[in-house]
Parts: sequence; C-alpha cells; structure tokens
Amino acid sequence: MKETLLKIRSERLNRGLTVGLVALIVVFSLVLSCRSGREPGSPAAELILKNAAVYTLNEAQPWAEAVAVAGGKIVFVGPNSGVKKYRAEGTKVLDLAGKMVLPGFQDSHVHLISGGMELEQCNLNDLETKEEILARVRSYAAENPKKDWIVGGGWALPVFPEANPSKEELDAVVSDRPVFLSAADGHSAWVNSRALDIAGVTAKTPDPKNGRIERKAGTGEPSGTLREAAASLVDRLIPEATAEEYLSGLRGGLALANRFGITSIIEASADDKLLEAYANLDRSGDLTLRVLASIYVDPEKGVGQIDDLVRKREKSQGHYLKATAAKIFMDGVIESHTAALLEPYLDRPGDRGTPILEAEDIDRLAVALDKAGFQIHVHAIGDRAIRMTLDAMEQAGKVNGPRDARHHICHLELIDPADIPRFHALGVVANFQALWAYADTYITQLTEPILGPGRSSRLYPIGSVVRSGGMYAGGSDWSVSSLNPLDAIQVAVTRRGPDMPAGPAWLPDELIDLPTAIAAYTTNGAFLSFEEKTRGSVEAGKAADLIVLDRNLFKIPAQQIHQTKVVLTLLEGRIIYSDSGSSLPVQRP
Ligand SMILES: [Zn+2]
Repeated sequence: MKETLLKIRSERLNRGLTVGLVALIVVFSLVLSCRSGREPGSPAAELILKNAAVYTLNEAQPWAEAVAVAGGKIVFVGPNSGVKKYRAEGTKVLDLAGKMVLPGFQDSHVHLISGGMELEQCNLNDLETKEEILARVRSYAAENPKKDWIVGGGWALPVFPEANPSKEELDAVVSDRPVFLSAADGHSAWVNSRALDIAGVTAKTPDPKNGRIERKAGTGEPSGTLREAAASLVDRLIPEATAEEYLSGLRGGLALANRFGITSIIEASADDKLLEAYANLDRSGDLTLRVLASIYVDPEKGVGQIDDLVRKREKSQGHYLKATAAKIFMDGVIESHTAALLEPYLDRPGDRGTPILEAEDIDRLAVALDKAGFQIHVHAIGDRAIRMTLDAMEQAGKVNGPRDARHHICHLELIDPADIPRFHALGVVANFQALWAYADTYITQLTEPILGPGRSSRLYPIGSVVRSGGMYAGGSDWSVSSLNPLDAIQVAVTRRGPDMPAGPAWLPDELIDLPTAIAAYTTNGAFLSFEEKTRGSVEAGKAADLIVLDRNLFKIPAQQIHQTKVVLTLLEGRIIYSDSGSSLPVQRP
C-alpha cells in the first residue's frame, strides 16, 4: 500500500548513507574516554548516554537527561549529575547533545521474512505507473535468465483501472516464462498467460472457495488477476524457496528493521518455514530483535489443528523467539470487495463480501485456541468480520472464564460504531496500521466509491477506540507498507500522507496525540507481547532496548517526524545498528 511512501522509503535509504555519516561523526566523535568517577555500590556501566532528551514512557518520570546500562539492563535513568557514579574504566559515554532517546520500537504486525525475501525478488514496491512496473518486470527477467519463474510483488492496486491488470500487458514483456506478481496488499496476484496455461486455469475453471478469478466480460476467460485464494491456483506451482533463501530474507528484514529502530516484532503469520528460519538465527545468536510469531491457522482445518499448533509453539521457544500467538484471517480487503461488510458494497448490490470463516467456526476456533493458551491475532478489515471476531473473543472468555489473553485484531479499517467500546470492554487490543489512515488513492479511488460517504467518514477510527479506553498497538504490515514506524507515527498524528505539507487532517476526529502514537510502538507493543514488566519503557531494571533519534519528536513540526533518523539501536545494551558504520562496531547479541 501507499506507493508514494514506499518511494520515500527507498530514497531515504540511499540518502541516509551520506546524511547519516555526517550526523554520526558529530555524535560519536563525542565519545569520551572517561576516568572512573564511580562510587562504591553503583554498578559499573558499560554504556552511558548523557545530555539526551530521554522520553521514558514512565509516568513517574516522563523525561530524563541520562541513562546508564549494565549487563544488558538499564541501571539508571535521571539527570546528568546522577549518572556519573556509574562511570568506570572502559565505560563508553555518548554525549548525545540533545538528541532523543526512546525505548526500541515494536512493530506489532509485520511479515519480516517474506518482506525480506521480496527485496530479492522482482520488487515493484516503489513504482507509480504501469510503464514503470512493466519496465521493471522486463529488466528483472533479463537480469535473471536462469530463473524458471519470474516471481515478485508490490504493485499498487490504484495504478490499474479497477485494480485489475491484464495478462496481455505482462505477456508483452515476458512470454517465455511464467510470471507471478503479488499486489502490494498481498490480496491479489497478477499473472501472465504462460502461468495460467501451466496451472490449467481456463474459462471453465470455477472460482475456488474464498477466491475469485477475474475474467473478461462476457467470455469467462481469465483476465490475469487472481483474488485471494485464487492466487494459489498458480502460486502452488512456483518452486519452493530454499531454507537458505528464507534465512537470507530474514537477514535482510532484520537489517532494515534495526535501521528503523525496531527491537521487537510480532510476526504476522508464520508457517513452519518461517518458524524454522527464526529459530535458526535465534540459535546462532543472529536474531537481532525479539520475535513473537503468530502461527498461521488453516481455515480449512478448524479445531483439529490445535495439537499441531501447540507442537509448533513448543518447538519455537528460544532466546528471543516465542510463538505463542495464533493467526486467523477473517476476510480480505475492501478495495477488491473481499472484506466482509455488514451492508453491501455500493457497486455490487447484495454483495457484502464473504467472511473466511462462518460465525460458528470462528467461535469454536477462538474458544479452543484460547483454552490452549494461545493469544489470538486476527486479520479483520470489514465491519462484519470485525464484529464476528469480537463476538468470538467474547465467547472464548465466557466459555473459558477470564484470562489474561491479550487477543488482538489487526487492520480494523471499518468498525461499526456499536463495536468501538467492545475493545476496551473485552480487553481486545486494536492493532492499527496508521500509515493507511489518510486520503490516498486507495481511499479516494478504490474505497470511498464502493462504501459511500457514511461508512467512508469513519475509516481507521484510531481516535474513537482510544477515547473509548481501548488499547492501540501499532504495526506496519511490511512489506505491504513502509517498515519505518516514524512514517506511521506521523500519519497517526496528522491523518495526512507523510510527504504532504501541513493542512487539514482526513477525518480529524480520529487523530491521536504524539504520546499515544509513541506508546503504540513501545509500551503497548511490550504489553501485547506480554513483556511490559521487562521492557517497553526507559526504566531502571528493564532491558536496555533503546534507540537514539537525531531530533526530539516533541520539538519539531509533525511533518518532519518521518524525516527523523534513528542513529543508534540497542538490544539489551548491544549495538545492533549505528549510523556511523565504523565508530562503534555492531556487536552480535
Ligand atoms: Zn499482514
């Protein structure tokens, strides 16, 4: 999603190298060689950050100047004068000259491995026109003559009329090999004629359950776009990625995440391959962030798969890895009419979209998963899918009794007003992707026309959920949209595109303030991962998962939030990313 943003992201990565180097020379040239001023009884710090604007997210002490770190933990938060006694021989002291310190960010909904793998495939994420997209496919195919399949993704739905690109357009650039390209939102795929031939998809092929084959008017002939489950008619024929390709994708994802200050994630949907890749890097000490993986739940298998999910959970207990959540998809997306709505789409009388699970099936599944101790993580976008999910979570609580379950629903594009207070009432966390909450072409061209003004006036109701007492946690859904939490934080507090100048907010009632937006990526993320006692804020005793930003977010216009750079990322006090590249070596955890 959000094609312009993705462009910004990749541009920024390139520019970052030069701009960042200058900034970092300033920061790290101030590393002082220090004499020990340590008093007996204070632990010797490995690292001291001082002269900083430390925004702690600890209500008892919201701001501080200095932080001391020892043994991977924060041992002191307070004034510059108070940190001196933690200085010892060998303590690194960073004079941050007013830069901002925050807890490391948590991205609570991200496809880190598939996103990383996509970086190495035919990547269409930053392209804004059909011509650019086709040129990229053509050049990628030319650069990879040995690949039997051309696989990639990231094309933006609004680039094509009715989000419906044709096989002929692809045939014109690649006809000798099959081509499979996922849309940026992951809910549609675009294929060429060769791919359809190999898969045997013809005018006679019926639409699969939970999927639709787009067809030419009148003839029934597949036109080249496959929605939801229909994509797997072709997808299943693509040679499987090797374990090494998964690891390489994960490494790419980790590097980018650490660069954006992310020290914890909730993996949005993990199958065995993904769990194994995470476990592999966790064992070797190369997993540079904390992972709570949400294990993929097969909608076809129902409660019969619970034992299998429990086995996967047990197998995935590591140092930074746990897989204690289960991921259920309840619907698709509004733009392709696959979200489940309470009232019909305006352009398709009678069509309300179809939920992936019937009410009794999601209820039964939620009860069983909750009973087995899983945290339930549900993809729900339409108001009917969201209501069915809340009903199922309520049912789980009734049947199993109250439990500290911390179930959550992600995306939450259209919530019926009657359901807003239920997040607080049921203790269900609202996992919004705030980056989508502005009037871009997904909204103006593909959503508003098919929902009408009433429903369109209350999309992504972050403010309403927060005002009703519900907890908001933030996620990117990368590679659907930018992995940079600061992009989403800016949109959450402006309801305008990150690159737009100051101006009126889209649906201003749903704005939130900066402290709420930062909490969504720090304390609330830690809560959602059941780790709020050990991390998520800058407090003595908590893990030193910390980041340094080049400017204080509270002292700049909101339009500059996305330009802010992370210059240092620490995981348990170890530097996993630094903008300098050389002044401070990256240490393995
Ligand atoms: Zn997702």
